[in-house]
Amino acid sequence: MRVYNFSAGPAQLPLPVLEQAAAELTDWQGSGMSVLEVSHRGKDFVACAADAEAAFRRVAGVPDNYRVLFLAGGATGQFSAIPMNLAPRGATAAYLNTGQWSKKAIKEAARQGVNVLTVADEAASAYTTTPEPGSFAVPADAAYLHYTPNETIGGVEFPYVPDAGDVPLVADFSSTYLSRPLDVERFGVIYGGAQKNLGPAGLAIVVVREDLLDRARPDVPAIWDWKVMAGADSMLNTPPTFSIYLLGLILHWIESTGGLEAMGERNRAKAERLYAAIDASDFYTNPVEPRSRSWMNIPFTLADPALDADFLAGADAAGLTNLKGHRSVGGMRASIYNAMPDDGVTALIDYMTEFERTRA
Ligand code: PLP
Repeated sequence: MRVYNFSAGPAQLPLPVLEQAAAELTDWQGSGMSVLEVSHRGKDFVACAADAEAAFRRVAGVPDNYRVLFLAGGATGQFSAIPMNLAPRGATAAYLNTGQWSKKAIKEAARQGVNVLTVADEAASAYTTTPEPGSFAVPADAAYLHYTPNETIGGVEFPYVPDAGDVPLVADFSSTYLSRPLDVERFGVIYGGAQKNLGPAGLAIVVVREDLLDRARPDVPAIWDWKVMAGADSMLNTPPTFSIYLLGLILHWIESTGGLEAMGERNRAKAERLYAAIDASDFYTNPVEPRSRSWMNIPFTLADPALDADFLAGADAAGLTNLKGHRSVGGMRASIYNAMPDDGVTALIDYMTEFERTRA
């Protein structure tokens, strides 16, 4: 039996995609082989990767002067690749700190010898909000401004794209990648791990404006050098072939369900229903300032934490899995990414209502 999987990642994937992948697993496109077994240099896989890139460009609306890279190492690899590609040692890089993932990005940048300037830090709110637009200034000589559009752990999402002036804006979209329309031209670099909205773990999708490809340090390892990877069509070495194949299937699924406009509407509606249920009850609480509430990750606590274990056990038994909150936050967290159907959210709300009725 399939369950509704509320994991923050790796996360639930669209069932039609999994079914297609299963059907093709032993004989892909009549090759008599699985896609896992074909050469990445062969024409069939090269066409598969090109199709995934073309679909990504269509779905996200990527302009011609941006390159799309499929890289191993997840989003965490890019925490280091960003300073290596954009900032000489000792240069200043600006960061917005809105939570745990911002902090990890900042830590890696510091390890790469950049002078991290945290231009906004939401620590005072216990990371339950985003900075007001215009409340921070980015020095004109900063190599870039980095931010995390959606903090997966805190459930905090920017309701706007920060203004970085002429400084390239770099965004970790991991947990809100292609969850709604985006204006790629506002960004210098967009990146994120695939394992929430776009496929298997380990794959990072990096979108970089071409004029930024000339800024890499001379000693950056080739595998982390965006220009080298762009020149090799992301195939300097053997790429994560199965992940790229599955990404392509997911992008086609997004297109078949109406693209990002429709996806954004569905995601907004799902999140609104869950927040409305939480807000309507004194038993459940979400700590995030309403304007910065995530559409993807919705943490909530029970009025009596002694009931947490029962809540989780009952949810599991009802086929609602992985609702336990992150260890740093406690309580619950419902991650409702693109592939979570409306019915999954309805089932969760029904379960929460019934649990409160019988246990509060
Ligand atoms: N950034 C954000 C916002 C995340 O949620 C995650 C993972 O959950 C990461 C980065 C790290 O991604 P990866 O595990 O692919 O390195």
